[in-house]
Amino acid sequence: MNTLLFVLKSLMGGVVTLRLPKTVPTQPTFRGQVQLDKDLCIGCGRCAAACATKVIEVKRDRENKDIYRWSYDAAQCTFCGRCKDACNKFHALSMQTHRPPVYTAIGSLKQEYVMIRKRPETAAPKAAAAGSES
Ligand code: SF4
Ligand code: SF4
Repeated sequence: MNTLLFVLKSLMGGVVTLRLPKTVPTQPTFRGQVQLDKDLCIGCGRCAAACATKVIEVKRDRENKDIYRWSYDAAQCTFCGRCKDACNKFHALSMQTHRPPVYTAIGSLKQEYVMIRKRPETAAPKAAAAGSES
């Protein structure tokens, strides 16, 4: 086929490529941002201990030992899922199945909650219910 004929055929054929979606869909097993269920968290700190990059911090209040601060910065997270695995007794952590948002400033994705420590036995029944749902 000569070149001119090929070009004419291509011009007449119309668009043959597909338009890409604005956001590429993820799989259901995609590991996105870590999400905390405050009702299920007892403040044990196992998630923080499991996080190699120290993205999760669980700190007790200096004056009131019943209060703790749980924080997580998705911008520093490697999305490995070790924290979620470490919380396998209380099921307080899950990972979002969509992509994390783009951030423009350091710390803008940081989440921090101040909570009252719970006894494991008060959180465990809820955790068991949460675990059976998944
Ligand atoms: S999220 Fe889970 S592992 Fe982390 S402090 Fe809360 S209960 Fe403990
Ligand atoms: S997913 Fe991995 S890097 Fe991110 S907070 Fe959990 S343990 Fe840390």
